[in-house]
Amino acid sequence: VRHSPAAVPAALLVVLCAWAPKLAPVPAWAPLGLAAGGLALGGSGGAALLGAAAGLGLGELRRSGEIPAPAGRVTEVEGTICGLWRERVEFASRSARLCPGWLRVGRQLVLRPPRLFVDLPSAFAPPRFGTTVRVRGTLNRFPGLANATEVAPGPWRLRVKSQVFVTEVASSGAFASTNNALRARIERSIGAAGVGGRPGVALTRALVLGDEGGMTNEGRRALRRAGLAHLFAVSGFNLTVVAAFASVLAGAGPRGARFLLPGLAVIVYLATVGPEPSMLRASIMAGLALALLAWGRAGSATQALALAAMLLIAVEPAMVDDVGFRLSFGATAGLIAGTRNRFAALARLPPSLAAALTASLAAQLGALPFSVAAFGELSPLAPLLNLVAVPWAALWLLLGMAWIAVALVLPSAAGRLAPLLDLGAAPFAGLERLPPAPWVSLALPGGIVAGAAVALVAAGVLSCRGARRWLLLVAAALAATGPRPAVSALSEVAFLDVGQGDAALVRDGPFVALIDGGGLVGRDLGAAVLRPALLVRGLGAVDVAILSHSDRDHCQGLLDLAALVPIREVWSSASQLARGCGAQLALRARRGARALAAGDVVWRGRGRFEILHPAPGQYAADPNAESLVVAVDLDGRRFLFGGDLAAADERAVAARAGSSLTADVLKVSHHGAARSTPLEWLAEIRPRWAVVSAGVSNAYGHPAAATLARLRAAGVLVLRTDRDGEITFERRAAGPWRLSLPASPRAVAPTR
Ligand SMILES: [Zn+2]
Repeated sequence: VRHSPAAVPAALLVVLCAWAPKLAPVPAWAPLGLAAGGLALGGSGGAALLGAAAGLGLGELRRSGEIPAPAGRVTEVEGTICGLWRERVEFASRSARLCPGWLRVGRQLVLRPPRLFVDLPSAFAPPRFGTTVRVRGTLNRFPGLANATEVAPGPWRLRVKSQVFVTEVASSGAFASTNNALRARIERSIGAAGVGGRPGVALTRALVLGDEGGMTNEGRRALRRAGLAHLFAVSGFNLTVVAAFASVLAGAGPRGARFLLPGLAVIVYLATVGPEPSMLRASIMAGLALALLAWGRAGSATQALALAAMLLIAVEPAMVDDVGFRLSFGATAGLIAGTRNRFAALARLPPSLAAALTASLAAQLGALPFSVAAFGELSPLAPLLNLVAVPWAALWLLLGMAWIAVALVLPSAAGRLAPLLDLGAAPFAGLERLPPAPWVSLALPGGIVAGAAVALVAAGVLSCRGARRWLLLVAAALAATGPRPAVSALSEVAFLDVGQGDAALVRDGPFVALIDGGGLVGRDLGAAVLRPALLVRGLGAVDVAILSHSDRDHCQGLLDLAALVPIREVWSSASQLARGCGAQLALRARRGARALAAGDVVWRGRGRFEILHPAPGQYAADPNAESLVVAVDLDGRRFLFGGDLAAADERAVAARAGSSLTADVLKVSHHGAARSTPLEWLAEIRPRWAVVSAGVSNAYGHPAAATLARLRAAGVLVLRTDRDGEITFERRAAGPWRLSLPASPRAVAPTR
């Protein structure tokens, strides 16, 4: 810090800019007063005050640029396309970042709002990167999920229905045009080689161009789980590999080439990859480092990092919330610290190996607080895997670039060489087969604080010597395994907020069952909702996954969870276990799948699970009609789960089962759809509470007004996950059953 006076002001600026919008508004004189004080004081103290003033001011600027809720309204935006178009196959659309100059919702005009995404149907030719456009569409965002462990809302997306609503205001500049042309050439050449679908080509695209379009969701999850996802976000790593390789090549040449060639290689690479945010960060940092070197302030990498952070935040204050920004700054800061000192624990290794290991570990520890905050997990295997994966990725980055160069000149030769690239992808494909175990991926709630604590303890253990190291290790182990809440005397049924879908957790002491697991397009609810829900209850596995039917909004989350946490048994109807998602889930069950039908009763601990539908041997074309209807008796209360059953089947079940349907709590069928929950069904169940599981402002209009009216007429108290978030019925020891809403009021208010 002594040699980098910008470090403290930069840290204050970043932290205050990130926190100010979450705190109460500060009056305008506060940052001005701080700035005046800083100027008067001078020196390092004055610089710190100036940094704090700038942070507060930028934070307030972010607050004023906030986009007014509610979502779903027609919005007009003018701005520049400032990112590359990415295919969103699941949504049949293409999406790119837009840096808006202004935005208008109704009569409200917002100047300099934060960046948002534009979504265009895949069928339309998108405006190129760098062009200034005026666009009209509806503004929406993923509203977040309101459980005891909340999932933050997503970025704003402007959904544009047609090209008619996109007007070009100004065309792109020289850099953007070059990048557009190069990208288009490469895409055409890969197309001409006819090898677009090969795993090696998908890997090359991700590694060299940062285009993950060819990778599967499972592949992406496997990389994240193993702590290797950073290799596929084009970053300073890529620039370093390119520059290092070029300087090795230039080493044999004349003196002038030694500086010229690496610089040229980096410029060509930047022009090819384009304006990825991580790339801009890396080039700004490299540029500043070079400028500082030329200025004669040798070796102050911390200074370059601090200046780059201030510069980027000043231009785009919302960047402080960007996961990529946080990860790469954390990793770089760790790397800088790691190159100055060597971990004592590695002292016995040869010096060069110890230095390399220290650098790798320090970079990972620096990024850890932010990766834990973003993904809620850490990978104990990552330090080991990175040792092999980083050099491997560097090698395949160079080979991939060479292959792209061949494809540009001789597409047919590139086609014949493509199988070679598959060799590079093979080890990464193996990651998908790692089991759902804590030594692969350890769930860690508690966000940035928990991540920082783990990173500090790990750095301490690696740096200390002798007895101190052992003391620290024992203390950390005690803290990690420390006192847990006694779970044996607890009965609980929790309806989790999984957006548009169903998921309920049934617990009797250490026994836990999940009835459905939700499932949203493009989201991993296993990692985001289900595993955290297990973890806050001190559970690391699922005893039984009960699947009502195979539709995505009930099954996908369970399938995602199976990649992270062991699932012992799967129960469903015979036909649902034989098809689609249900069949895949059955394969993941440790002790196999169990086909159930009306009349079956299974006891687990003190819980009694009674199946009421479908009848044995009954099949239907519509999976909803085959929904497994389960009544759960737990500790004196009865809960009835109706899946996605429609009125005709509900009437049939009511006629067959009669008053044995009676339950205290009813999970309303089909998310409260108008064609479910007839009066005959309610008359037999006579519930006190009804739970509707539906997404905030979902496209289906669930729950329907007619259904809510029927429930009201029957005198039922209605609870809704879209309004109340997670809904929990629980009983501790000998106390009464209690209803609680742990995430109410939810962070983002429902709009309907
Ligand atoms: Zn459904």
